[in-house]
Amino acid sequence: MASETAKPEGSRDFIRDIIDAEVAAGRNIEVVTRFPPEPNGYLHIGHAKAIWVNFGLAQEYGGRCHLRFDDTNPTKEEQEYIDAIQRDVRWLGFDWGRHLYYASDYFEQLYDWAEHLIRAGKAYVDDLPVDEMRVMRGSLTEAGRNSPYRDRTVAENLDLFRRMRAGEFSNGARVLRAKIDMASGNMNLRDPVLYRILHAAHPRTGTTWCIYPTYDFAHGQSDAVEGVTHSLCSLEFEDHRPLYDWLIDNLPVPSRPRQYEFSRLNLSHTVLSKRVLTQLVRNGHVAGWDDPRMPTLAGLRRRGVPSAAIRKFVQHVGVQARANNVVDVAMFEHSIREVLNKIALRRMAVLRPLKLHIDNYPAGPGEELLAVNNPEDASAGTRSIRFGRELYIERDDFMEYPPAKFYRLSPGREVRLRYAYFVTCREVVKNAAGEVVELVCTYDPATRGGNAPDGRRVQATLHWVAAAHAKSAEIRLHNPLFKRAEPDTSGDFIAELNPMSLETLTASKVEPALALATPEEPVQFERQGYFCLDPSSAPDHLIFNRTVGLRDSWTKARPTGY
Ligand code: ATP
Ligand code: MG
Repeated sequence: MASETAKPEGSRDFIRDIIDAEVAAGRNIEVVTRFPPEPNGYLHIGHAKAIWVNFGLAQEYGGRCHLRFDDTNPTKEEQEYIDAIQRDVRWLGFDWGRHLYYASDYFEQLYDWAEHLIRAGKAYVDDLPVDEMRVMRGSLTEAGRNSPYRDRTVAENLDLFRRMRAGEFSNGARVLRAKIDMASGNMNLRDPVLYRILHAAHPRTGTTWCIYPTYDFAHGQSDAVEGVTHSLCSLEFEDHRPLYDWLIDNLPVPSRPRQYEFSRLNLSHTVLSKRVLTQLVRNGHVAGWDDPRMPTLAGLRRRGVPSAAIRKFVQHVGVQARANNVVDVAMFEHSIREVLNKIALRRMAVLRPLKLHIDNYPAGPGEELLAVNNPEDASAGTRSIRFGRELYIERDDFMEYPPAKFYRLSPGREVRLRYAYFVTCREVVKNAAGEVVELVCTYDPATRGGNAPDGRRVQATLHWVAAAHAKSAEIRLHNPLFKRAEPDTSGDFIAELNPMSLETLTASKVEPALALATPEEPVQFERQGYFCLDPSSAPDHLIFNRTVGLRDSWTKARPTGY
């Protein structure tokens, strides 16, 4: 397990305070938590917080954390998601060991407990149609009304519930409800549904069942079966806690778990709703769950975000604040840069090339120069790079008529080519349309390596690649999927999408060493940002994804530029 997940020195939060108090009182010495995803989509950065909270606490207190699939709705769940979730939790650096569970493993036990409630007079089969049931539940200001089926006898309820299980009734014809209190101030206690009829094949239990427990009936009881001590979930379940406790108190469960709530993570310019993410994928707004623009762990991985950066970020956000709030995506990017700056190898890549010809440089094979792989890490060593008479520089690094604060190349001006020489622009070559197509320069042979023996200075250092040796590459610049910091996704959200979320550059030139890049190895393109090879890249068609720019361009230019 990742060691940096341990809590930072001196940092406390309300969950740790609770556990510490229990430990001090001699209770709950063993901390057992669980991460309970529903396999109806891929995990996203919000889940990373829940994973960190659950696995991190268990690790810190020497306990254990289970991975439990909350697979109680076969109409939405798929094996693909089960596999992806396991892959992503592992990638994030956490390990459930042999504690992999499924709520569906407990279907028989849950069924028995449902009969237990019926026999105790605490559950009944209701025939009300769904909309009538909804109306009769009342509202926050109005008490609910009892269903006419509420007072069925135990025998009648048992018979009907068994026939529900046997498949005698159609979807929605009947439900099993807990008999609690239709006038309760807490809507969740107004005879909540425990079982519904769903004639649907389940990824694990096939067609064995045609009735399925609700989240509320499955969750706490699964916790109890597994001996979970601290059932940590996000704040929207706070109102469900009385029901969680009611069920645990009224069933012969083998242990007494307790639910605690923490705030959901929300990121600006990002949507973390599985409903919306699913629609983005299904309707083709993105290339799949692992599209680098997606906030999914699979998307972030493909974009080149190291799992260490995600752990660092969610740890930094922490669980101190109990209110749901929106964290600026710039903070996440800061964590990504912090991690990448230490590990990414520096390379040169020209995103939008402009030819540069050095008139007084000898024609021929050129020469080898020495370049540093990572100034932050001496052990990363050096490499040799080819220099020659024909080079490419970044189109943005030249202006024919520079404004006052433009210090890069322009006619008559001298700049440094990184690790190479000083060059001076002598002539601008244009095509028939008047566009600049080539710069003719001269170089100063005495400045080899990048310094002038006479001590003269230049205002800018440009990156470059040698035309004869550079590899062509496609470079994908990923921008936020949504235009606004807090997109409105309540209705049709198409208008909220950023039409510039993906910018593809197809004529980029990269230094030859980048032909050896792998998707797992982040690189920094000097002066451009952090990038990584896309898994769909091929030796004759290199594709790189921009992970994040070098500095926060957000504060100035939102929302199109990372
Ligand atoms: P759904 O709308 O399908 O319920 P969900 O995002 O809540 O979506 P689950 O699979 O139920 O998905 O989530 C698993 C766990 O992750 C839950 O305990 C949930 O509280 C937690 N979780 C989900 N989203 C976030 C988030 N944004 N921040 C923190 N925790 C989250
Ligand atoms: Mg949920």
